Amino acid sequence: MEEQTIPLEVNALTRHYDAPTSLFSGGMFWKKHQQESQVVKALNGVSFTLRKGETLAVVGESGCGKSTLARQLTLLEIPTSGDVIINGKSTTNLSSQSLKALRSKVQMVFQNPYASLNPRAKIAKQLEEPLIINTTLSSFERKEKVKEMMNKVGLRPEFAERYPHMFSGGQRQRIAIARAMMLEPQIVIADEPTSALDVSIQAQVLNLFMDLQDLLDTSYVFISHNLSVVEHIASNVMVMYLGRAVEISTKETLYQTPLHPYTKALLSATPMIYPEDRRIKIPIVGELPSPLNLPDGCAFHKRCPFATEQCKVQTPELRTIGTSQVACHHAEEIN
Ligand code: SF4
Repeated sequence: MEEQTIPLEVNALTRHYDAPTSLFSGGMFWKKHQQESQVVKALNGVSFTLRKGETLAVVGESGCGKSTLARQLTLLEIPTSGDVIINGKSTTNLSSQSLKALRSKVQMVFQNPYASLNPRAKIAKQLEEPLIINTTLSSFERKEKVKEMMNKVGLRPEFAERYPHMFSGGQRQRIAIARAMMLEPQIVIADEPTSALDVSIQAQVLNLFMDLQDLLDTSYVFISHNLSVVEHIASNVMVMYLGRAVEISTKETLYQTPLHPYTKALLSATPMIYPEDRRIKIPIVGELPSPLNLPDGCAFHKRCPFATEQCKVQTPELRTIGTSQVACHHAEEIN
């Protein structure tokens, strides 16, 4: 049997930003302002594979590097090092024309659908636009495709001539999803796509994502801070902390037997409906350290209740335990 091409592979991806900082010093009557550069280490060597029709959920606190990862995957930024491989093809050192061709295979859905839509353009026009830019379809064919997609995402035909402000938040997110799907991308990066919506609407939008995946075999990278949302949609889950993956696992394994202390703490803080699903609370003490000044050793050691001297000096790499990959020196002893 012929082996299927993997839509997305990410190898040791890093993204560091130079951040100019202002240093203020002085007494009552004078102030000295000096510019110097510091490095924000937003992404620090992330690797994973996304197969056809699968959803990889990326979870972690805000500031853990999820959105930086999203920007690298949509090829909007050039990573500091590492590689994004789409359909077996490295995107490093590609010409701008080749990059443009690959970009149509990767589309993005944002948290705020209103910000991602043009308030002055009718819905039909906005859905047609990606086809005008990226295809040679005739006007008639484009309009037919727009009608088809509106039907797929549950938007009534008469909505075509309306403007974004005439819709509810949930309907606007349907429009944004329809727009992302117009080119039938292989990969969709969804960055907190339900977190701006009412809880009652969130499930409808998640179901829409899953229905479209069944229909079009699209692969999703679904970024969220909400583990309840992720449980609904993910095939696999990657937990991130300070720009690194600390645990990668299938959804079932991660929710039943989380191995990394950070994953355990996140899950224990997630509200569960059924009492048997509730977990013993593992507190995470303190704030997320700054990506300007990453701790030595395990980046989680200052907040981890299981930290040892080894954790303060030696950075744990991802290693395989059972069917999971975990970056923790003491994962077996803790569990
Ligand atoms: Fe905690 Fe040490 Fe494991 Fe890091 S390596 S998560 S500090 S036990």
